[in-house]
Amino acid sequence: MQDSDFQRIAAFRRILGLEREQGFEDRVVIGGLDRFLDQWSAQLSSIIGSPPNYSSMPREERQRWVADVLDRLPAPEPQKTEPRKAEPRKKDFRRDPPPPPPLKIDDDVSKVRGVTNSNLPKLQHLGLETVRDLLSHFPIRYNDFSDIRKIEDLEWGKKQTVLGTVSEISQSAFGSKRSSAHAVLSDSTGGVRVTWFNQGYLVNTLRPGMKLFVSGKVGEFRNNLLFQNPEYEIMGKQGDLVHTGRLVPVYSLVEGLYQRPVRGIIKRALDACLPRLEEYLPEDVLHRNGLLGIESAFSQIHYPDSFGAAEAARQRLAFDELFLLQMTVLRRRQAWQELGGGIALDVGLPELDAFVDSLPFSFTDAQKRATDEILSDIQTARPMNRLLEGDVGSGKTVVAAVAMLAAVLNGYQAAILAPTEILAEQHFLTITRLLRGEGSKDGSQYIANIQLGEREVTVGLLLGSLSKRVKDDTRLMLAAGQIDIVIGTHALIQESVDIPKLALAVVDELHRFGVMQRFALRSRGTRPHMLVMSATPIPRSLALTVYGELDVSIIDEMPAGRPQIVTRYERPERRGVVYKFVRSQVEAGRQAFMVVPFIEESEIKVGGPIRDKGGQARLTEGEQERRTKFVRGAVNEYERLSKEVFPELRLGLLHGLMSLREKEEVMDKFQGGELDILVSTPVVEVGIDVPNATVMVIDGADRFGLAQLHQFRGRVGRGRHESYCILLADEPGESALERLKLIENFRDGFKLADKDLELRGAGDYLGTRQSGVPDMKAANLTDQETAKRSRSECENILRLDPGLVKEQHRKLAKRLAEYEKTVTAEMS
Ligand code: ADP
Ligand code: MG
Repeated sequence: MQDSDFQRIAAFRRILGLEREQGFEDRVVIGGLDRFLDQWSAQLSSIIGSPPNYSSMPREERQRWVADVLDRLPAPEPQKTEPRKAEPRKKDFRRDPPPPPPLKIDDDVSKVRGVTNSNLPKLQHLGLETVRDLLSHFPIRYNDFSDIRKIEDLEWGKKQTVLGTVSEISQSAFGSKRSSAHAVLSDSTGGVRVTWFNQGYLVNTLRPGMKLFVSGKVGEFRNNLLFQNPEYEIMGKQGDLVHTGRLVPVYSLVEGLYQRPVRGIIKRALDACLPRLEEYLPEDVLHRNGLLGIESAFSQIHYPDSFGAAEAARQRLAFDELFLLQMTVLRRRQAWQELGGGIALDVGLPELDAFVDSLPFSFTDAQKRATDEILSDIQTARPMNRLLEGDVGSGKTVVAAVAMLAAVLNGYQAAILAPTEILAEQHFLTITRLLRGEGSKDGSQYIANIQLGEREVTVGLLLGSLSKRVKDDTRLMLAAGQIDIVIGTHALIQESVDIPKLALAVVDELHRFGVMQRFALRSRGTRPHMLVMSATPIPRSLALTVYGELDVSIIDEMPAGRPQIVTRYERPERRGVVYKFVRSQVEAGRQAFMVVPFIEESEIKVGGPIRDKGGQARLTEGEQERRTKFVRGAVNEYERLSKEVFPELRLGLLHGLMSLREKEEVMDKFQGGELDILVSTPVVEVGIDVPNATVMVIDGADRFGLAQLHQFRGRVGRGRHESYCILLADEPGESALERLKLIENFRDGFKLADKDLELRGAGDYLGTRQSGVPDMKAANLTDQETAKRSRSECENILRLDPGLVKEQHRKLAKRLAEYEKTVTAEMS
């Protein structure tokens, strides 16, 4: 047959289809179907025989004739019926454009066939920017369609696959908009009905005579087995089975993306790139750890031969993620330390001992241990890189102060970098108080001069919000070496600040790698010792993977004599009782905090669908529909409590929009006992030390995370008196209630951190972006076993070949360079 015949047959098929749809009224062709048949009888006679007299046939007869002819029409050849190709063309040299250049792993996703203007932004939303990202978009699970049956062996309720020939396909329209496709599939043992609801368009793809795989759960209707909305795949269209007949990947998606096209896109990326993936792990590492090669790992994680193979693939890829992370971190640490340039400090000075002896308390064993570890680090020229971990109130600051004083006594400078201005200021007060001085202000400049034995120690505060004149002044003093200890926010490293004799930098904040490098710039050639203090304990199971760059000192013991803190969640109707309790504490001479989540009260929208990890829409906890919820604000609460609840008490208000001076004034008053109750936004979370405060009421406690709640609680129980942490929540959801229970039951910050991690999973726990830990796709950050194995392999390699210059590490060095490019932005 010639192209034009196919074209004609296709037209005939369309006409008959329309005729059937319109109820055999013979209105499809102008002049009636007989006219069309007359015109083309010569070409069609081999199929339909002599043309009938259609116009005179009764309806049922027309129906039978149309069905019969449709059956006998040869199966269309899909490409050939494309009108574009069938049209006779002039000779055109551009007719067969050269095939597109093969996909490369760093190509943009938009280069992949199947990526369209409409799905591109959705793929990007999933973080899929490059072909490499596609390869690493691992399935969240698999549909097991590997059970391939003959039709007569299908079993109801099982997930099974059949291969059959499409013997009938039709479209039905229920209602107006959405039509469905109905097919019958047959093999040598029988036939089975298949329905695709709302996918009537499939009649354009699936044609009688095609061989089709269909996978899904076998259903039943009136004693007949059938498939409803199964996955399907036309045999022979692509090389491998992608959607049916095997373990089929299921990917996490966002709204508007569908499994089938995404599978196709990822499969194309795999086909193009798999053979060119380079194995960068040394042979012996693979061998020792029983790891799959990289090509089969990527192939098996998407299209596994079995669940076991999928698991083996995941293990290899998880190993890689942890291995690359550790390699990066260890090399960074190596570079930091091997460049040297640190300052060897004399830590045996009598003034240092005298300072420790002068404190009104003696160190706990844990504090002593941590102090020893730090002092022994800073007496060498190898720059320290240490994390100091401990629960709220465990006494980290005083340990850091010892190290800073060591620097100062050696004639150097020390700095503390705090995450917020309020905390920086708090540190300023704490340090000056510890050194037995009075933090004072000289104009609006914060400078303290403290006499320490023979020496005068000058402490300064540098904040972004101070006036330019004051900042310039402080900077000049720093540059001239007139300030010994400087405390500041990011102003300290972001602006052009010279700290020419900086020997120790304390970073009071986690999740901020990279600050060390910037600090190094400020200290002109020398590399300061770095001490990172964590505000929140890190789950032990994460320490190795996430903070592998740092040595760790842990203060896991509280100073003796700390009072109990009773923690309780009170139901909303008990609000009055809680207020009464607060009053009774004030009457006993104590003070109270009342924390409110926001500054201003508001109505917020809650409910409605949000996305879970798999990208599926779900409703928020306990909420079936959108509605508004009232949220208390500190300003209004302050008004209300002052006027209506505690008119006879002295209340203060603290929030982040107040000027530093206003905040300071309120905090001074509270600290000095001139206020009974401090109503505050979460700015009190860290650093405030008021030993006489015994009650912490957290209103809207359901809006805070575990770590934050624990920090709030740490503001009380700092003196001699038994203390109370009361959690109020108007309508806590399920997971909020779970958090409140944990806070009630656990006092130990390390335990809470472990629970929090358990509850939320590592990615969420760390808030990956801020923490600087690259996204883990296959690995679990808490997987100690793999973390340890990969770390020891890293250490091995770096010991033998620190620069990764040996031949067997050439590919590893290359892969690492790529990897570091993609993660540096996140890690610094
Ligand atoms: P962290 O910074 O770990 O939260 P701080 O260093 O601020 O803890 O200490 C909390 C409070 O405990 C401070 O008032 C501090 O002076 C005091 N403190 C520190 N170490 C001890 C100790 N060994 N014994 C008694 N009190 C201590
Ligand atoms: Mg502290």
